[in-house]
Amino acid sequence: MGVTAREIRLAARPSGWPTDENFAFADVEVPSPGAGELLVRNTFMSVDPYMRGRMNDVKSYTPPFELGKALEGGAVGEVVESGVDGVATGDLVLHNAGWRSHALVSQYTPLTPIEGVSPSRFLGALGMPALTAYVGLLDIARFTPGEAVFVSGAAGAVGSVAGQIARLKGASRVIGSAGSAEKVAHLTDDLGFDAAFNYRDGDVGELLAQAAPDGIDVYFDNVGGDHLQAAIDALRTNGRVAVCGSISMYNEKQPPPGPRNLHLLVGKRLTLRGFIILDHYDRFGAMAEEVGQWLANGELVAEETVVDGLDNAPAAFVGMLRGENTGKMVVRL
Ligand code: NDP
Repeated sequence: MGVTAREIRLAARPSGWPTDENFAFADVEVPSPGAGELLVRNTFMSVDPYMRGRMNDVKSYTPPFELGKALEGGAVGEVVESGVDGVATGDLVLHNAGWRSHALVSQYTPLTPIEGVSPSRFLGALGMPALTAYVGLLDIARFTPGEAVFVSGAAGAVGSVAGQIARLKGASRVIGSAGSAEKVAHLTDDLGFDAAFNYRDGDVGELLAQAAPDGIDVYFDNVGGDHLQAAIDALRTNGRVAVCGSISMYNEKQPPPGPRNLHLLVGKRLTLRGFIILDHYDRFGAMAEEVGQWLANGELVAEETVVDGLDNAPAAFVGMLRGENTGKMVVRL
């Protein structure tokens, strides 16, 4: 049978912020699945910060997107035609062929639908971003109860979960930063952060010092730059940083100067440790059990910002990079 699918391709590599010229739409014929393959109709696709990195032609932990080819990324969808014994039409799967209406996949994860829970959750609070929060806080930063934690990008997919895990696991104080007054109110009023600030309101170092007058033990870094410098100033002896991302730099043509206070690592015995979540999927089961439980009983709140329509996926992606999302940004197809 097969289908005609619509896909979004990388038309040109961006320099600075992506624009419409970087994306191209195409209609393609997708054949029926062969043995071991599934034809899937995507229902939700993810837009993630790492995709901006893959648009550049640079060596990294994953190869760059290819010019003229469909973009890739996390998606969930329903099986339309199955070439796999035990997988039936209508089954739900998670795979990496997002940015298109339909996909022929041979690598996928079967999903068990959860009553009353949107499948988009498997791209956010029950998926890769939640695992990133869990591993970053517990394994990379080695958070222990009673410690004070600062999370940047705190109203986003990873940050909102990281801050709440810290709270639920007994942090003495959880501080978050985000880019608007509404997000700051969301952090303290809805997500249970003890303090939060808008990084656009002034010097990040001063804002953090006010929010954490006694200092911090752990910093979950989603932003880099001035936020990392502020955190190094605020960290107490033996403090740790999970270096998760540096979103303040992803669209800059020239990277801003790095932290000017790295000498403090010595006297304070600080540890900064970067990580890539692909290396930590052995922790998925533990994360899903704990975070799933907290979500189910309402102790952990996970917002989503949903944009409708494949045609709006580029705008959703750039909007996420600009901060238009609260919680996980997803596109509903
Ligand atoms: P988010 O849902 O947090 O969306 C990105 C957010 O970044 C925006 O909402 C915006 O919020 C914020 N932002 C954009 N520009 C700036 C800036 N100049 N300064 C401060 N904040 C900014 O995305 P994710 O939760 O998916 O990702 C968060 C971070 O985690 C990223 O750095 C990403 O690269 C990283 N990551 C790393 C992984 C790993 O394996 N190491 C895996 C997954 C994610 P605001 O309104 O607050 O500015």
